[in-house]
Amino acid sequence: MELIFATHNPNKAKEIAALLEGKFKVLSLDGIGYTNEIEETGETLKENAFIKAQTIASKFNMPVFADDTGLEVFHLNNEPGVRSARYAGEPSNSNNNMDLLLSKLNPEEPNLARFVTWICLILNGEVHYFEGSLNGKIIHQKMGSNGFGYDPIFMPEQYSETLAQLTLEEKNKIAHRAKAFEKMKLFLMGK
Ligand code: IMP
Repeated sequence: MELIFATHNPNKAKEIAALLEGKFKVLSLDGIGYTNEIEETGETLKENAFIKAQTIASKFNMPVFADDTGLEVFHLNNEPGVRSARYAGEPSNSNNNMDLLLSKLNPEEPNLARFVTWICLILNGEVHYFEGSLNGKIIHQKMGSNGFGYDPIFMPEQYSETLAQLTLEEKNKIAHRAKAFEKMKLFLMGK
């Protein structure tokens, strides 16, 4: 089965193609010659995943999926959430995003948080959603240099290292995105 992954991020496309290898061939937007940006105008991660998948599904007669991820900090009313990528403004900058987030938090408090990924799959005109999450807390010192985004200040539950101190393999055993994609893979294997 051929599927389009509605992303312009080549690293993401490669990572997910590897996860779905075998029965599925994943084509990226660049792979199918679609160069337009898709505006993420939704108010939730789930809505944005749908907007991205639907934009492409309305133009190509093929199965399409898209994902959207955010960090939700409980003390901040689940901020930055849908604004995670550009929390500190344009252009997207992870260090600035982390600094802004830390400036809003009291280091004396537990600062519980979670990462959430939503995937929207449009297959034969039907819309399916898959969710994955990872609970943890925000720490006030950036630690580690692996990963990306908020990884240096996110410590998963039951861990004493941040996501940025784990290898990619270790991160993928517990991470939100891997869990959501695993759910989609199981669903597709039953097709
Ligand atoms: P996207 O929807 O996967 O592009 O993620 C949006 C933003 O959330 C990214 O720009 C990062 O700031 C943050 N983010 C997403 N996934 C992760 C992760 O696994 N670790 C740290 N930050 C992440």
